[in-house]
Formats: sequence, structure tokens, C-alpha cells
Amino acid sequence: MRMPRLGMGTWHMGEDASRRRDEVAALRLGLDLGMGLIDTAEMYGEGGAEEVVGEAIRGRRDEVFLVSKFYPHHASRAQLHAACDRSLARLGVERIDCYLYHWRGRVPLADTVAALEALVAAGKVASWGVSNFDVADMDELAAIRGGDGVAANQVLYNLARRGIEFDLLPWCAARGVDVMAYSPLDEGPLARHPALVEAARSSGATPAQVAVAWLLHRPGVAVIPKAATPGHVRANAACAALSLDAPTLQALDRAFPPPRSKRPLEMI
Ligand code: NAP
Repeated sequence: MRMPRLGMGTWHMGEDASRRRDEVAALRLGLDLGMGLIDTAEMYGEGGAEEVVGEAIRGRRDEVFLVSKFYPHHASRAQLHAACDRSLARLGVERIDCYLYHWRGRVPLADTVAALEALVAAGKVASWGVSNFDVADMDELAAIRGGDGVAANQVLYNLARRGIEFDLLPWCAARGVDVMAYSPLDEGPLARHPALVEAARSSGATPAQVAVAWLLHRPGVAVIPKAATPGHVRANAACAALSLDAPTLQALDRAFPPPRSKRPLEMI
């Protein structure tokens, strides 16, 4: 199954039992509306978010492309299989569609790649990738035996953080590595940015929708806004059908100029 372009994030889900019902309902609504990609991590709510996802997708496994991420301190051969088994149990599934190295730690990359390939061979993981890897990390990864198996790189990318367009985005495009844009609303504030308010007015959309739709206009980029509010979920799902015209795209380029030189990859 190929990774869908539009999905749902889950950071800060599973942290508070009183919000659990709404979080499960938000993810189910997103699936109903066709957002067939869910991104989670063992870190989110220390397993709580994976449990929320597990509840949301129960009986609906075939509708979702499931991405989860492991901690750097679980990236060794000795640790990774047990971490994956715990994630699978919380998610209530037999396989993760794409399993990501959340951010780079001290374990040698070759050790992590070997552990990931063993998980693929065991059928517990359909594909694997990385997160928060800049070009130098990707070059190092690609030079390792099996490293060219990397399927995705999940990075901070939104209108206010366009640094990856200079080098990382073309690097991934040239090698068929999917880019997953995290924090597409910059964790929320982009939904109130004056340039987006203006673009929204001319596009018949909300500012947040313009921010998400702008990312969907980038080839090879998947977008994973997090929303626990039903109205936000509906608005995000509708972005799949939102087309931004050339004058709007040009106005956004003026307000958020693309990079002209290397910017180190930012991360949240
Ligand atoms: P985000 O998606 O940029 O923003 C989430 C915030 O925006 C929430 O407060 C949400 O409110 C609000 N929102 C969502 N849709 C909206 C809409 N249509 N209109 C107005 N407001 C809206 O931030 P994020 O959660 O940091 O990033 C998304 C996902 O990326 C995460 O959940 C996580 O899965 C992933 N991520 C990965 C990394 C990494 O290191 N790999 C780092 C950060 C994030 P409500 O929740 O109230 O609806």
C-alpha cells in the first residue's frame, strides 16, 4: 500500500484520559472522510497515543496506512524488536506500514538498519524510514548496506519553515523517498497568520486549510495535521479537494520566501 498524501497526526493524544473519547472519535471521523494515514509514536503519551489509535482503527485496519516511530534509545538490534512488539500490541495490529526512527541518537546507523530489515523480514513492519534527518544524515544512511531501503523522512515543513526546499526535498525526490511534513500548521499559529488570512479570503477556505493545501501542492509530500476537534478534522479532510490558484501561490511565496541557501533542518 502506498502512503496516502493526507493524514492525521497524534502528538499530545493519549495524555489525558478525559480527552480520550474525543480523540478516538476525531480519528474515526478522519477515516470516515478519507484521511487514510495516521502518524503516531511510542513517545506520544508514552504509549497512550498508540492506544488511542488502536481503539480508533479497531475493525478498520484495511482503511489506514499506519506510521509509528521509535525512540533513539530503542534503535539498537538489542532493543528495537521489543519496542516494535510493544507498539504493535498497543496499536492492536500485526504490522506497522512504515516504522520511523524518530530522531537520530547514538546507535550506529548500520545497527539500526539491520534491526529494521529484520523487522521487515519478520513481517512486523512493511517499510521503514527516518525522521528529522538532514541531507548529511541521509547521505550517511544511503551509504550503509541496506540504507537505500529508506522509504520516508518525516520532517518539519510548513510555509513558515521552508528550508528543506533548498536541498533535502530535492534529495528525497531524486531517490523516491516520501517526505512527511509534520506540524503543517506550525503547531497552530499559522492558522492565524495575516498572509494566510488574506489568502484564505481569496480562496474561499480557512487560513489553516490554505496552509495544508499549500503542502499538498508539493509533489511527493504527505501532510499530517493533528486535530482533535471535529470541525478541524472536517476542515483538514476538505483540503484534499482545495486547489490554490497561481496568484495565491505567488502571494504566499512573497509572504514566506523560499530558501536561497542551506538552512540547517529545524525540528520541534
Ligand atoms: P499541527 O498539526 O501543525 O497543529 C496542531 C494544532 O492545530 C492543534 O492545536 C489543532 O487543534 C490545530 N488545528 C488542526 N487543524 C486545524 C484547522 N483546520 N484549523 C485550525 N486549527 C487546527 O502540529 P503538530 O501536532 O505538531 O504536527 C502534526 C503531527 O506531526 C503531530 O501530531 C505528529 O503526529 C507529527 N509530528 C512529528 C514530529 C517528529 O519529530 N517526527 C514532531 C512534531 C509533530 P485541535 O487539536 O484542537 O483540533
